[in-house]
Parts: sequence; C-alpha cells; structure tokens
Amino acid sequence: MKKLKLLALSAIIAGCIVSCQKEDITVAEPQEAIQQPSKAQLDKLFKMGVNIDDVSIEEIPLPDGTKEKYLVSGDITLPVNDLDKYLDLGSLEVNSKQYRSDHIVAPRYRNIRILGWTGTGYELTPRMRTALIWAVANYNALPNTLNFTLTFGTNQSQADMVVYRVPGGPGGSAGFPTADGKPNRYVRINTGLDVPAYSLNVIEHVMGHEIGHSVGFRHQDWYNRWSCGYNGPLPAEPSVNPAAIWIPGTPWSPYADSIMLSCFTPNEDGEFTNSDKDALNILY
Ligand SMILES: [Zn+2]
Repeated sequence: MKKLKLLALSAIIAGCIVSCQKEDITVAEPQEAIQQPSKAQLDKLFKMGVNIDDVSIEEIPLPDGTKEKYLVSGDITLPVNDLDKYLDLGSLEVNSKQYRSDHIVAPRYRNIRILGWTGTGYELTPRMRTALIWAVANYNALPNTLNFTLTFGTNQSQADMVVYRVPGGPGGSAGFPTADGKPNRYVRINTGLDVPAYSLNVIEHVMGHEIGHSVGFRHQDWYNRWSCGYNGPLPAEPSVNPAAIWIPGTPWSPYADSIMLSCFTPNEDGEFTNSDKDALNILY
C-alpha cells in the first residue's frame, strides 16, 4: 500500500505543475433552495467557533433517504432543530490564548462504531471505501483513547457514525460532537471527490478531515480560511472571542500544515501532520 501511495503521490505532484488548484472541503451543490439563517442561529454558530461569513440552511438527505435541515458553513453541517444540543466554546480565562471545549467525545463514547454505507443511492464508491479504511487506520494508530471499529453495510442501529455519499463537488461535510458527548453521527463524502484528478490519498485526507470535525476539531484557519486563498491581512491571533479551540502544545500559526485546514489541494498525502497527532493525543 505504501509504495502504491508514493507512486500516486508522485503522479499528483507531476500533475500539479500543470494545474495546481485548491478545493474547498465543502458541499458545492445545495440540495434544495437555500434559506438564510437567523441572527440567533449565527450567534450560536459563532460561539461554537464556526466561521459565519457564509452560512445557509439546506435540506440534506440522510442515508435512509429522509431529509434533515442543516445549518451549513463550508463543510460544517449542524442540524437546525438540534442546535441547542451543542455547547459553546469558552476561553479558559479572559485574553488567554487557550480555549477549551467540553464537547469532545465523552470517555464512554470513545469506542466508535463507524459504518461505511453500502445502501443503494448513497453507497460509498470502491475508492471511497478504501480511503475510509486508510483514514480510520490513521486514527486507530494513535496511542490515545479514541478507537474506531469499521464495518461496511446498512445496519444503522449498530453504528455511532455513518459515512455515506451525497451529490456535490469535491469535498465532504460533517458536524461536531453533541453536548452529551456523542460523536457527530453523519459524515458525507461528495460524489465529486471520486474523480481521476483525486488520488486515494486525497480522498483519505477528506475522510480524515470530516472524521476530525466529528470528534471535535474546528478548522485550524477557521477565522480567515487562509488555506482557501484568503489574501487579506493576517491577524496576529484571532481577535474575536470566543475563538475556536486552540490546543496547548500545538502550533498556532495559520501557516502550519494540518489535516484540519479549511481547503485541500490535489497533492494531499492523507496523513496526519505531527501537530495533528499531538492535538488528537492531547484531547484524547
Ligand atoms: Zn472542514
């Protein structure tokens, strides 16, 4: 697998010389007419450490074909009707750089049964399935208290997290753990991610990124989406409060590489950076 991945990576780097582009990890095609969120909903998202520059309300299908209304900010999706089930972030102390969040996955929910969906209509493609196996292996290789058991099928009653495919451009979407400490349940991978331009490593990257949200990670560059091409002045540090979680011991710089940057490129290797590993091991 390793050699194959290296070969694939070389091919992507070669291809990138011709056309290097950045892809937003986002749902590019709304499922239904877009509605505007209320100020109260935006305030709540902001307190949760979510970028509110461009938020919409969309109806998104679940794997069983029913639809649920979600607040959508880039690739972050939070159910409209259950918004009060999510906690706000808070700083440890005024003007402190260190932020805490209570809504990481609670100890009793850290053995996560993750289901790769195979049901007709929303089934993962073969490459998505392989990439999901790789992404889950990355999480399970870390010496922490999070553990994933991956199966493929349609038995939702035996799953804590369901990964399925929806229409849309290259990317995926997911939410955050709930206030009672359960991981985010639904992880969506867009059909547009499984095209020849994107290697298995890139699909692995997006899978790992969306699982990262599902266990509590915000975007490393949530405040200006630097990785998506933001050209404005970079603040010395987030000037708003509350800010997204910053984990002690990990680099703060917006230039630091992370699987949790808002946007990805076609040459992602799919692996955690050292700071990603530190962050996961500190949180869990
Ligand atoms: Zn994201």
